[in-house]
Amino acid sequence: MSDTGNRWFEQPPKPLRNRAPSRVADKDLWTRCPSCSEILYRPVLADRHQVCMHCAHHFKLGARERVLLLIDEGSWRRHDAHLAPGDPLGFVDSKPYTQRLVRSQQKVGEWDAFLAGSCSIDGIDVELGAFDFRFMGGSMGSVVGECITRLFERATERRVPAIVISSSGGARMQEGILSLMQMAKTCAALARLRDEAGQPYISLLTHPTTGGVAASFAMLGDVILAEPDALIGFAGPRVIEQTIGEALPEGFQTSEYLLEHGMIDRIVHRDQLRETLVALLLWMGARQVIKLEEAEE
Ligand SMILES: [Zn+2]
Repeated sequence: MSDTGNRWFEQPPKPLRNRAPSRVADKDLWTRCPSCSEILYRPVLADRHQVCMHCAHHFKLGARERVLLLIDEGSWRRHDAHLAPGDPLGFVDSKPYTQRLVRSQQKVGEWDAFLAGSCSIDGIDVELGAFDFRFMGGSMGSVVGECITRLFERATERRVPAIVISSSGGARMQEGILSLMQMAKTCAALARLRDEAGQPYISLLTHPTTGGVAASFAMLGDVILAEPDALIGFAGPRVIEQTIGEALPEGFQTSEYLLEHGMIDRIVHRDQLRETLVALLLWMGARQVIKLEEAEE
C-alpha cells in the first residue's frame, strides 16, 4: 500500500454532513408558542397534552389524542370507520376535491375528519366523537354528518349520554348543499336523543369551532364546555368587520367572551377535562357501571 493510501486510511473519518435532515429533525423537535413566544420542546409538549407549560396555551389536538385523553383504557369500540367520502358534485377549485381528500387521508390516516366510538369514562358508558382539524380544517361533509347522526342514534338506542368534541371550520363547501343538509340532520338526531331516550349531550368546543358546525349541534349541548381562548363563532371576525364596517370588541368570539355573555357554560383546562366530564355526567344522572376489577373481588 502506498504512503498516501496509509495516511488517508489513518485519518479519522469526517463526520457526515447532511444539513437537510438535521433541519427537519430540529423542526420536528421544537416549536414556538404562538401565545407567549417561548420555544417549546415537542416531546414535553406532547406529554402535557399539547398545553404550553409557560402560559397554558392550548394547541390543537388530533382526534385520536383527544379520545385517549378521556376514555378508560381498553374501553374504546370504534364505529363507522369504513365510511368514506365521495365527490358528488365533481368539485374542482384550485385543485380537485378528490385530490384534497387523498392528501388529508394520507396525512391523518382516516377516511374523513371525524372519529366516533362507544367507550366508558371512569366507568360511565358514553358515545364519544371528536373532529380532526388536520383533515380539511375539520370540515363537515356527508361522512362527518353521518357519523355524528349515527353517534346520536346509538346513544338513543343504548340510552347513554353523548359527547362531541368540535374543532371545525364549518360545512365542507366541496359538497355544497349536501354538507349544509348535515346541519339539520344531526340536529334532528340530537332532538330524538332527548325526546326518546332522555339522555344528556355534552358539547366541547375547541379552537376553532365555526361555521355550520357552530350553527348546529355544537351550540346545542345541554352543557356547553370550551377550552381556553378558543375561537368560536359563525363567521370569522374579519368577515364581520368588513360587513358591518366597525371594529369588533377585544376578545370577541373567544371562549372567555362567550362565557361572559352567557353563550357557554364553562371553560375547562384540558388537564381537568376528564374529571369535569365525569362530575357533570354523574350530576346529570349517569351511572357508573361496575368496574371489572371490583366485580372479581
Ligand atoms: Zn405559551
